[in-house]
Amino acid sequence: MATIAVLGGGYAGLRTVKRLMHDKVDAHIVLVNNHPYHYESTQLHEVAAGTKTSADITFDIREAVDHRVDVVIDTVVSIDRENKRVILEHGEPLAYDYLVNALGFESETFGVKGVKEHSLSFTDIDSAVAVHEHIERTLANYATSHDENDLHIVVCGAGFTGIELLGELVHQVPRWTKQYGLPEGGMRIICVEAGKKILPMLPEDLSTWAVDFLTKHGVEMHPGTAITEVKPGVVIGGDLEFHANTVIWTTGVRGSHVINDSGYDQKRNRVVVGEDLAVEGHPGEFLIGDVSAVPDASSGRLYPTTAQIAIAQADAAAANVAALIDGRPTQPFVFKSVGTVCSLGPHEGVASIDMLGHWKLKGHKVSLVKKLVNDRSVLELAHVKEMLASN
Ligand code: NAD
Repeated sequence: MATIAVLGGGYAGLRTVKRLMHDKVDAHIVLVNNHPYHYESTQLHEVAAGTKTSADITFDIREAVDHRVDVVIDTVVSIDRENKRVILEHGEPLAYDYLVNALGFESETFGVKGVKEHSLSFTDIDSAVAVHEHIERTLANYATSHDENDLHIVVCGAGFTGIELLGELVHQVPRWTKQYGLPEGGMRIICVEAGKKILPMLPEDLSTWAVDFLTKHGVEMHPGTAITEVKPGVVIGGDLEFHANTVIWTTGVRGSHVINDSGYDQKRNRVVVGEDLAVEGHPGEFLIGDVSAVPDASSGRLYPTTAQIAIAQADAAAANVAALIDGRPTQPFVFKSVGTVCSLGPHEGVASIDMLGHWKLKGHKVSLVKKLVNDRSVLELAHVKEMLASN
Protein backbone atom coordinates (compact mmCIF):
# COMPACT_ATOMS: atom_id res chain seq x y z
CA MET A 1 0.00 0.00 0.00
CA ALA A 2 1.30 3.46 -0.90
CA THR A 3 2.30 5.88 1.87
CA ILE A 4 1.14 9.50 1.74
CA ALA A 5 3.18 11.79 4.01
CA VAL A 6 1.46 15.03 4.92
CA LEU A 7 3.79 17.56 6.56
CA GLY A 8 2.23 20.15 8.85
CA GLY A 9 -0.99 20.10 10.90
CA GLY A 10 -2.07 23.65 10.05
CA TYR A 11 -5.09 24.52 7.92
CA ALA A 12 -3.61 23.06 4.74
CA GLY A 13 -2.10 19.85 6.15
CA LEU A 14 -4.96 18.91 8.44
CA ARG A 15 -7.52 19.65 5.75
CA THR A 16 -5.60 17.40 3.33
CA VAL A 17 -5.75 14.52 5.80
CA LYS A 18 -9.44 15.11 6.50
CA ARG A 19 -10.16 15.09 2.77
CA LEU A 20 -8.12 11.89 2.18
CA MET A 21 -10.04 10.22 5.03
CA HIS A 22 -13.38 11.51 3.74
CA ASP A 23 -12.65 10.20 0.23
CA LYS A 24 -11.54 6.84 1.70
CA VAL A 25 -8.28 6.95 -0.26
CA ASP A 26 -6.69 3.52 -0.14
CA ALA A 27 -3.27 4.43 1.29
CA HIS A 28 -1.27 4.60 4.50
CA ILE A 29 -1.58 8.23 5.64
CA VAL A 30 1.05 9.75 7.95
CA LEU A 31 0.64 13.28 9.33
CA VAL A 32 3.78 14.88 10.77
CA ASN A 33 3.48 17.92 13.04
CA ASN A 34 5.82 19.41 15.61
CA HIS A 35 3.03 19.78 18.20
CA PRO A 36 0.21 17.42 19.19
CA TYR A 37 -2.26 20.26 18.59
CA HIS A 38 -3.58 22.30 15.68
CA TYR A 39 -3.89 26.05 16.18
CA GLU A 40 -6.00 28.56 14.29
CA SER A 41 -3.24 30.75 12.85
CA THR A 42 -5.79 33.40 11.82
CA GLN A 43 -6.43 34.02 15.52
CA LEU A 44 -2.84 34.19 16.81
CA HIS A 45 -3.07 38.00 17.08
CA GLU A 46 -5.81 37.54 19.69
CA VAL A 47 -3.55 35.36 21.84
CA ALA A 48 -0.70 37.86 21.33
CA ALA A 49 -2.92 40.68 22.64
CA GLY A 50 -4.42 38.51 25.37
CA THR A 51 -8.06 38.73 24.26
CA LYS A 52 -8.01 34.93 23.80
CA THR A 53 -6.02 32.18 25.47
CA SER A 54 -4.02 29.54 23.62
CA ALA A 55 -6.63 26.95 24.68
CA ASP A 56 -9.32 28.96 22.85
CA ILE A 57 -7.63 28.50 19.48
CA THR A 58 -6.12 24.99 19.69
CA PHE A 59 -7.38 21.45 19.55
CA ASP A 60 -5.80 18.00 19.71
CA ILE A 61 -4.87 16.76 16.24
CA ARG A 62 -5.37 13.13 17.23
CA GLU A 63 -9.01 13.84 18.05
CA ALA A 64 -9.51 15.29 14.59
CA VAL A 65 -8.30 12.23 12.67
CA ASP A 66 -9.25 8.57 12.88
CA HIS A 67 -7.37 5.27 13.24
CA ARG A 68 -6.43 5.23 9.53
CA VAL A 69 -3.98 8.09 10.11
CA ASP A 70 -0.64 7.78 11.88
CA VAL A 71 0.13 11.04 13.65
CA VAL A 72 3.87 11.58 14.17
CA ILE A 73 4.80 14.35 16.59
CA ASP A 74 8.26 15.38 15.43
CA THR A 75 10.02 18.26 13.68
CA VAL A 76 10.76 17.98 9.97
CA VAL A 77 14.43 18.82 9.39
CA SER A 78 14.50 18.43 5.62
CA ILE A 79 13.19 16.33 2.77
CA ASP A 80 15.52 13.92 0.98
CA ARG A 81 13.59 14.30 -2.27
CA GLU A 82 15.78 12.02 -4.32
CA ASN A 83 15.19 9.07 -1.99
CA LYS A 84 11.65 10.13 -1.06
CA ARG A 85 12.33 10.33 2.69
CA VAL A 86 11.40 12.94 5.28
CA ILE A 87 14.26 13.58 7.72
CA LEU A 88 12.96 14.06 11.25
CA GLU A 89 14.65 15.62 14.26
CA HIS A 90 14.05 12.65 16.58
CA GLY A 91 12.57 9.70 14.71
CA GLU A 92 13.76 7.49 11.87
CA PRO A 93 13.46 8.93 8.33
CA LEU A 94 9.92 8.58 7.00
CA ALA A 95 9.71 6.95 3.55
CA TYR A 96 6.86 8.09 1.33
CA ASP A 97 5.37 7.49 -2.10
CA TYR A 98 3.38 10.73 -2.18
CA LEU A 99 4.16 13.94 -0.33
CA VAL A 100 1.95 16.88 0.60
CA ASN A 101 4.17 19.57 2.08
CA ALA A 102 2.16 22.09 4.10
CA LEU A 103 4.82 23.29 6.54
CA GLY A 104 3.50 26.84 6.73
CA PHE A 105 5.05 30.22 7.41
CA GLU A 106 7.72 32.08 9.36
CA SER A 107 8.11 35.79 10.02
CA GLU A 108 9.79 37.81 7.24
CA THR A 109 12.34 40.43 8.34
CA PHE A 110 13.34 41.56 4.83
CA GLY A 111 16.86 41.81 6.25
CA VAL A 112 16.02 44.90 8.34
CA LYS A 113 18.75 45.31 10.93
CA GLY A 114 17.94 44.48 14.56
CA VAL A 115 14.52 42.91 13.92
CA LYS A 116 15.42 39.45 15.22
CA GLU A 117 17.21 40.79 18.29
CA HIS A 118 14.96 43.69 19.35
CA SER A 119 11.40 42.92 18.28
CA LEU A 120 8.82 40.21 18.85
CA SER A 121 6.82 38.35 16.25
CA PHE A 122 4.12 35.71 16.51
CA THR A 123 4.05 32.73 14.19
CA ASP A 124 2.83 29.99 16.49
CA ILE A 125 1.27 29.47 19.92
CA ASP A 126 4.51 29.78 21.90
CA SER A 127 5.54 33.06 20.24
CA ALA A 128 2.02 34.52 20.51
CA VAL A 129 1.92 33.68 24.24
CA ALA A 130 5.41 35.20 24.60
CA VAL A 131 4.18 38.48 23.04
CA HIS A 132 1.24 38.61 25.44
CA GLU A 133 3.42 37.87 28.46
CA HIS A 134 5.93 40.52 27.37
CA ILE A 135 3.18 43.16 27.12
CA GLU A 136 1.74 42.34 30.56
CA ARG A 137 5.23 42.23 32.16
CA THR A 138 6.27 45.53 30.60
CA LEU A 139 3.08 47.32 31.66
CA ALA A 140 3.41 45.90 35.19
CA ASN A 141 7.00 47.14 35.28
CA TYR A 142 5.86 50.75 34.85
CA ALA A 143 4.81 50.91 38.51
CA THR A 144 8.46 50.74 39.54
CA SER A 145 10.30 52.02 36.44
CA HIS A 146 8.10 55.07 35.64
CA ASP A 147 9.64 54.70 32.20
CA GLU A 148 7.11 56.00 29.63
CA ASN A 149 8.47 53.55 27.06
CA ASP A 150 6.97 50.74 29.12
CA LEU A 151 3.57 52.17 28.10
CA HIS A 152 4.35 52.37 24.38
CA ILE A 153 3.74 49.58 21.86
CA VAL A 154 4.96 49.85 18.28
CA VAL A 155 3.38 47.59 15.66
CA CYS A 156 5.65 47.35 12.60
CA GLY A 157 3.64 46.84 9.40
CA ALA A 158 -0.04 47.45 8.69
CA GLY A 159 -1.00 44.38 6.65
CA PHE A 160 -3.97 42.34 7.87
CA THR A 161 -1.91 40.89 10.73
CA GLY A 162 -0.80 44.32 11.98
CA ILE A 163 -4.26 45.87 11.63
CA GLU A 164 -6.04 42.95 13.34
CA LEU A 165 -3.48 43.05 16.16
CA LEU A 166 -4.02 46.81 16.60
CA GLY A 167 -7.77 46.17 16.91
CA GLU A 168 -7.19 43.75 19.78
CA LEU A 169 -4.62 46.01 21.48
CA VAL A 170 -6.93 49.06 21.57
CA HIS A 171 -9.64 46.84 23.02
CA GLN A 172 -7.28 45.90 25.86
CA VAL A 173 -6.09 49.44 26.72
CA PRO A 174 -8.91 50.28 29.20
CA ARG A 175 -8.41 46.95 31.00
CA TRP A 176 -4.63 47.37 31.19
CA THR A 177 -4.95 50.99 32.35
CA LYS A 178 -7.20 49.91 35.22
CA GLN A 179 -5.36 46.70 36.10
CA TYR A 180 -1.89 48.29 36.29
CA GLY A 181 -3.01 51.72 37.58
CA LEU A 182 -1.53 53.43 34.50
CA PRO A 183 -1.99 57.17 33.91
CA GLU A 184 -5.18 57.79 31.90
CA GLY A 185 -4.19 58.20 28.23
CA GLY A 186 -0.63 57.17 29.08
CA MET A 187 -0.53 54.13 26.82
CA ARG A 188 0.50 54.84 23.24
CA ILE A 189 -0.08 52.40 20.38
CA ILE A 190 1.89 53.32 17.28
CA CYS A 191 1.80 51.69 13.86
CA VAL A 192 4.59 52.21 11.33
CA GLU A 193 3.87 51.15 7.73
CA ALA A 194 6.05 51.49 4.62
CA GLY A 195 3.12 51.78 2.18
CA LYS A 196 1.42 55.14 1.65
CA LYS A 197 -2.01 53.52 1.70
CA ILE A 198 -3.22 51.24 4.48
CA LEU A 199 -5.08 48.03 3.46
CA PRO A 200 -4.99 48.81 -0.29
CA MET A 201 -6.42 45.35 -1.01
CA LEU A 202 -9.80 46.37 0.47
CA PRO A 203 -12.34 48.69 -1.18
CA GLU A 204 -11.44 52.32 -0.36
CA ASP A 205 -14.41 52.99 1.96
CA LEU A 206 -13.63 49.90 4.06
CA SER A 207 -9.92 50.68 4.47
CA THR A 208 -10.79 54.29 5.39
CA TRP A 209 -13.33 53.05 7.95
CA ALA A 210 -10.77 50.67 9.48
CA VAL A 211 -8.09 53.36 9.76
CA ASP A 212 -10.61 55.87 11.19
CA PHE A 213 -11.74 53.28 13.74
CA LEU A 214 -8.19 52.64 14.93
CA THR A 215 -7.29 56.35 14.95
CA LYS A 216 -10.42 57.19 16.97
CA HIS A 217 -9.32 54.53 19.47
CA GLY A 218 -5.97 56.24 19.88
CA VAL A 219 -3.69 54.43 17.41
CA GLU A 220 -1.03 56.72 15.92
CA MET A 221 -0.73 55.63 12.28
CA HIS A 222 2.46 56.40 10.35
CA PRO A 223 1.98 55.32 6.72
CA GLY A 224 4.71 55.97 4.15
CA THR A 225 7.40 55.21 6.75
CA ALA A 226 9.68 52.28 5.90
CA ILE A 227 11.45 50.89 8.94
CA THR A 228 15.18 50.68 8.35
CA GLU A 229 16.41 49.50 11.74
CA VAL A 230 15.23 48.34 15.15
CA LYS A 231 17.45 49.09 18.15
CA PRO A 232 16.72 48.20 21.79
CA GLY A 233 13.54 50.17 22.54
CA VAL A 234 13.69 52.22 19.31
CA VAL A 235 12.19 51.73 15.84
CA ILE A 236 13.78 53.84 13.13
CA GLY A 237 11.80 54.79 10.02
CA GLY A 238 13.14 57.51 7.75
CA ASP A 239 13.91 60.56 9.93
CA LEU A 240 11.60 59.35 12.67
CA GLU A 241 12.33 57.40 15.83
CA PHE A 242 9.60 55.59 17.76
CA HIS A 243 10.45 54.71 21.35
CA ALA A 244 8.78 51.71 22.97
CA ASN A 245 9.67 48.78 25.16
CA THR A 246 7.27 46.57 23.19
CA VAL A 247 7.98 46.30 19.46
CA ILE A 248 5.94 43.78 17.44
CA TRP A 249 7.05 42.87 13.92
CA THR A 250 4.25 42.04 11.44
CA THR A 251 5.66 42.95 8.03
CA GLY A 252 4.80 39.73 6.25
CA VAL A 253 5.65 36.08 6.03
CA ARG A 254 7.90 33.63 4.19
CA GLY A 255 7.59 29.87 3.89
CA SER A 256 9.21 27.36 6.27
CA HIS A 257 13.03 27.23 6.23
CA VAL A 258 12.71 23.49 5.51
CA ILE A 259 12.08 24.49 1.88
CA ASN A 260 15.51 26.07 1.58
CA ASP A 261 17.08 23.23 3.55
CA SER A 262 15.61 20.67 1.13
CA GLY A 263 17.18 22.13 -2.00
CA TYR A 264 14.05 23.47 -3.67
CA ASP A 265 14.27 26.20 -6.28
CA GLN A 266 12.55 28.83 -4.13
CA LYS A 267 12.05 32.47 -3.34
CA ARG A 268 11.35 33.44 0.29
CA ASN A 269 10.93 29.70 0.90
CA ARG A 270 7.99 29.50 -1.48
CA VAL A 271 8.15 27.17 -4.48
CA VAL A 272 6.30 27.91 -7.71
CA VAL A 273 4.24 24.78 -8.36
CA GLY A 274 2.42 23.58 -11.47
CA GLU A 275 -1.30 24.12 -11.97
CA ASP A 276 -2.09 20.80 -10.23
CA LEU A 277 0.02 22.01 -7.21
CA ALA A 278 2.78 19.43 -7.80
CA VAL A 279 6.41 20.44 -8.18
CA GLU A 280 7.39 20.64 -11.85
CA GLY A 281 9.05 17.33 -12.86
CA HIS A 282 8.08 15.67 -9.54
CA PRO A 283 4.56 14.26 -9.88
CA GLY A 284 3.38 13.06 -6.49
CA GLU A 285 5.21 15.85 -4.63
CA PHE A 286 2.70 18.57 -3.75
CA LEU A 287 3.29 21.89 -2.00
CA ILE A 288 0.35 23.82 -0.57
CA GLY A 289 -0.29 26.78 1.74
CA ASP A 290 2.47 29.23 2.64
CA VAL A 291 5.32 27.11 1.21
CA SER A 292 3.78 27.26 -2.27
CA ALA A 293 3.53 29.99 -4.84
CA VAL A 294 0.58 29.25 -7.08
CA PRO A 295 0.03 31.16 -10.31
CA ASP A 296 -3.55 32.26 -10.93
CA ALA A 297 -4.07 31.24 -14.58
CA SER A 298 -6.70 33.98 -15.08
CA SER A 299 -4.53 36.92 -13.91
CA GLY A 300 -1.00 35.50 -14.31
CA ARG A 301 -0.21 36.68 -10.76
CA LEU A 302 0.50 34.53 -7.73
CA TYR A 303 -2.34 33.85 -5.32
CA PRO A 304 -1.85 35.53 -1.90
CA THR A 305 -1.12 33.29 1.08
CA THR A 306 -4.36 33.11 3.02
CA ALA A 307 -6.06 30.43 5.09
CA GLN A 308 -8.96 30.37 2.65
CA ILE A 309 -6.66 29.53 -0.26
CA ALA A 310 -4.64 27.02 1.80
CA ILE A 311 -7.84 25.11 2.57
CA ALA A 312 -8.91 25.12 -1.09
CA GLN A 313 -5.43 23.93 -2.11
CA ALA A 314 -5.67 21.07 0.41
CA ASP A 315 -8.84 19.80 -1.24
CA ALA A 316 -7.20 19.99 -4.68
CA ALA A 317 -3.96 18.31 -3.55
CA ALA A 318 -5.82 15.47 -1.79
CA ALA A 319 -7.93 14.88 -4.91
CA ASN A 320 -4.80 14.87 -7.08
CA VAL A 321 -2.97 12.40 -4.83
CA ALA A 322 -6.05 10.14 -5.03
CA ALA A 323 -6.05 10.54 -8.83
CA LEU A 324 -2.40 9.48 -9.08
CA ILE A 325 -3.01 6.43 -6.88
CA ASP A 326 -5.96 5.44 -9.11
CA GLY A 327 -4.01 6.13 -12.31
CA ARG A 328 -6.23 9.05 -13.31
CA PRO A 329 -4.94 12.44 -14.58
CA THR A 330 -4.55 15.25 -12.02
CA GLN A 331 -6.74 18.37 -12.24
CA PRO A 332 -5.71 22.04 -12.19
CA PHE A 333 -6.31 24.10 -9.03
CA VAL A 334 -8.95 26.78 -9.47
CA PHE A 335 -9.94 29.20 -6.75
CA LYS A 336 -12.72 31.69 -6.30
CA SER A 337 -12.39 33.89 -3.23
CA VAL A 338 -15.47 34.32 -1.09
CA GLY A 339 -14.04 37.55 0.26
CA THR A 340 -12.00 39.00 3.08
CA VAL A 341 -12.79 39.64 6.73
CA CYS A 342 -10.57 41.94 8.81
CA SER A 343 -11.44 42.10 12.50
CA LEU A 344 -10.83 45.23 14.58
CA GLY A 345 -10.98 43.80 18.08
CA PRO A 346 -13.54 41.30 19.33
CA HIS A 347 -16.62 43.32 18.34
CA GLU A 348 -15.85 45.30 15.15
CA GLY A 349 -14.32 44.87 11.73
CA VAL A 350 -14.64 45.33 7.98
CA ALA A 351 -15.48 42.69 5.38
CA SER A 352 -15.72 42.45 1.63
CA ILE A 353 -17.76 39.36 0.76
CA ASP A 354 -18.35 37.89 -2.71
CA MET A 355 -21.16 35.42 -2.13
CA LEU A 356 -24.59 35.83 -3.68
CA GLY A 357 -23.46 39.27 -4.85
CA HIS A 358 -20.89 41.68 -3.49
CA TRP A 359 -21.25 42.79 0.13
CA LYS A 360 -19.32 45.44 1.99
CA LEU A 361 -19.75 45.28 5.75
CA LYS A 362 -18.34 47.35 8.58
CA GLY A 363 -18.84 47.55 12.33
CA HIS A 364 -20.49 45.07 14.68
CA LYS A 365 -21.95 42.69 12.08
CA VAL A 366 -18.45 41.78 10.92
CA SER A 367 -17.61 40.14 14.24
CA LEU A 368 -20.50 37.75 13.58
CA VAL A 369 -19.16 36.96 10.09
CA LYS A 370 -15.68 36.37 11.52
CA LYS A 371 -17.11 34.10 14.18
CA LEU A 372 -18.98 32.12 11.54
CA VAL A 373 -15.78 31.78 9.47
CA ASN A 374 -13.79 30.64 12.52
CA ASP A 375 -16.49 28.23 13.66
CA ARG A 376 -16.75 26.77 10.16
CA SER A 377 -13.02 26.23 10.07
CA VAL A 378 -12.98 24.44 13.44
CA LEU A 379 -16.05 22.47 12.45
CA GLU A 380 -14.49 21.30 9.19
CA LEU A 381 -11.06 20.55 10.61
CA ALA A 382 -12.06 19.00 13.90
CA HIS A 383 -15.34 18.19 15.54
CA VAL A 384 -18.34 20.04 16.86
CA LYS A 385 -16.98 19.48 20.39
CA GLU A 386 -13.99 21.75 19.77
CA MET A 387 -16.23 24.39 18.21
CA LEU A 388 -18.50 24.47 21.23
CA ALA A 389 -15.52 24.51 23.57
CA SER A 390 -14.04 27.55 21.79
CA ASN A 391 -17.20 29.65 22.30
P1 NAD B 1 1.47 41.48 4.57
O1 NAD B 1 2.59 41.23 3.64
O2 NAD B 1 0.10 41.37 4.05
O3 NAD B 1 1.62 42.95 5.22
C1 NAD B 1 2.85 43.42 5.72
C2 NAD B 1 2.86 44.94 5.73
O4 NAD B 1 4.13 45.35 6.26
C3 NAD B 1 2.73 45.56 4.33
O5 NAD B 1 1.73 46.54 4.37
C4 NAD B 1 4.11 46.15 4.07
O6 NAD B 1 4.06 47.34 3.32
C5 NAD B 1 4.64 46.44 5.48
N1 NAD B 1 6.09 46.47 5.56
C6 NAD B 1 6.98 45.60 4.99
N2 NAD B 1 8.25 45.96 5.29
C7 NAD B 1 8.16 47.09 6.05
C8 NAD B 1 9.12 47.95 6.67
N3 NAD B 1 10.44 47.73 6.57
N4 NAD B 1 8.68 49.01 7.38
C9 NAD B 1 7.35 49.24 7.51
N5 NAD B 1 6.40 48.47 6.94
C10 NAD B 1 6.80 47.41 6.23
O7 NAD B 1 1.71 40.49 5.81
P2 NAD B 1 0.71 39.99 6.95
O8 NAD B 1 -0.19 41.07 7.41
O9 NAD B 1 1.56 39.30 7.94
O10 NAD B 1 -0.16 38.89 6.20
C11 NAD B 1 0.46 37.73 5.63
C12 NAD B 1 -0.56 37.02 4.72
O11 NAD B 1 -1.62 36.50 5.52
C13 NAD B 1 -1.15 37.94 3.69
O12 NAD B 1 -1.38 37.21 2.50
C14 NAD B 1 -2.47 38.32 4.32
O13 NAD B 1 -3.45 38.67 3.35
C15 NAD B 1 -2.84 37.07 5.09
N6 NAD B 1 -3.66 37.42 6.26
C16 NAD B 1 -5.01 37.56 6.05
C17 NAD B 1 -5.82 37.92 7.12
C18 NAD B 1 -7.29 38.11 6.89
O14 NAD B 1 -7.76 37.76 5.79
N7 NAD B 1 -8.03 38.63 7.85
C19 NAD B 1 -5.26 38.12 8.40
C20 NAD B 1 -3.88 37.97 8.58
C21 NAD B 1 -3.09 37.64 7.49
